[in-house]
Amino acid sequence: MAETADLIVVGGGIVGCAVVQHCAELLPAGARIVLLDRGPVAGATSASCMGHLMVTPDDAQEHAFSATSVKMWAELEEREGGFDYNPTGALYLADDPADVELFAVLQKQFADHGDRAEILDQRQLRELEPGLAHDLPGALFYRGDGVVLPMLACGAMLRQAKKHNPNVDVRPHTPVTGMLLAGDRIVGVQTARGAIHADHVVNCCGVWAPELAEMAGQPRLPIVPRAGNLAITGHHVTPIRTQLLEISYIRFAHGAAKVDPTRTDDPGGHAMNMQPQSNGGCLIGSTRQFRGMDRTLNKALLHRSLLRAQRYAPGLAHAPIVRTWVGLRPYSLDKHPLIGPWPPLRGLWIAAGHEGLGITLSPITGRLLAEQIAGRPTTIDATPYLPARFLR
Ligand SMILES: Cc1cc2nc3c(=O)[nH]c(=O)nc-3n(C[C@H](O)[C@H](O)[C@H](O)COP(=O)(O)OP(=O)(O)OC[C@H]3O[C@@H](n4cnc5c(N)ncnc54)[C@H](O)[C@@H]3O)c2cc1C
Repeated sequence: MAETADLIVVGGGIVGCAVVQHCAELLPAGARIVLLDRGPVAGATSASCMGHLMVTPDDAQEHAFSATSVKMWAELEEREGGFDYNPTGALYLADDPADVELFAVLQKQFADHGDRAEILDQRQLRELEPGLAHDLPGALFYRGDGVVLPMLACGAMLRQAKKHNPNVDVRPHTPVTGMLLAGDRIVGVQTARGAIHADHVVNCCGVWAPELAEMAGQPRLPIVPRAGNLAITGHHVTPIRTQLLEISYIRFAHGAAKVDPTRTDDPGGHAMNMQPQSNGGCLIGSTRQFRGMDRTLNKALLHRSLLRAQRYAPGLAHAPIVRTWVGLRPYSLDKHPLIGPWPPLRGLWIAAGHEGLGITLSPITGRLLAEQIAGRPTTIDATPYLPARFLR
């Protein structure tokens, strides 16, 4: 007899793990939830990224979305822990006078949503981060941000899920190869190890979400890979203790910029980003380029990030780089993730397309999706993220 479940989540990255956690909490006790990944859990983008938990104050909706999620990360730390959670805050840096003006712009954006960021002068910056270059003209400091290690966080989410519902079943190395349909309903998935029937299937496949949609006979979802080059130093050498990023970042990241995914040079995406690790390493990134699934390192761009990092933290010049790699952000064409049902096929749900904020936004994504599946009111307005907007 074919195997059955109540809910199948396809994709065991940070988004799939968060969806499993929140469905385990909100669906009826004992619901059978199966998580399938064709590789290991946390083996794709969620293992090739940084772990900045970033409140983005672009507008009231985005602020509520990201700030609620960052708060949920703190709750997960209290309830479960074990994922190198570190509420470092974030320092926005500049060395160009044109960029220094952005401190006040971003500070006002936070203030507009009742939040607070502080402009630090040179002395205050040096007190907070003695390892930074002494000629920097100050910084903007936002205390609400933090850092996690995403691979460990996936494990923490799944442990929470199993505590709520022992029927959660995690199956790595189980590729989904097809979707089972009955008229306008999805009724399960075909895997390399047999079919599983279920009323609900959630597509959490990140940059591969369009392929999974096609397996269900649906049009490709509007998600494309956006590559980022990263480098990490050896342990115990980091000169910094706060999440650092160039303030010019706000000109092009997330919802800010008009970019054209058919261009491979992705203009402007070269702000430096540095993150202290719990082992004393320093993670340095992060560029943005559209070039399909190509994960070849762009040495010239990475070199540029490293030089920028040394400009801000001169001690890094003596820190050995022990690993370099490329991760693929799942970039949604209207810059907002897709979270919710896919109306042409009843029972099919999507949680994908978080670009460079998927770690930050995974808890609220899991929550919003679980609330919708459970038929409950949502924690924040979920309308801007409904996938149906792409059907109009
Ligand atoms: C360089 C870089 C830096 C970043 N920095 C940050 C940061 O500081 N803060 C932040 O919030 N975000 C950051 N991000 C973004 C974040 O990493 C992503 O948004 C997030 O990891 C996406 O998670 P996901 O679960 O959607 O995708 P993934 O982690 O890619 O998971 C998708 C899973 O689906 C599986 N899958 C695909 N097809 C199938 C199939 N047919 N059957 C079964 N399984 C399948 C894959 O194996 C994979 O495990 C960064 C990203 C990059 C690349």
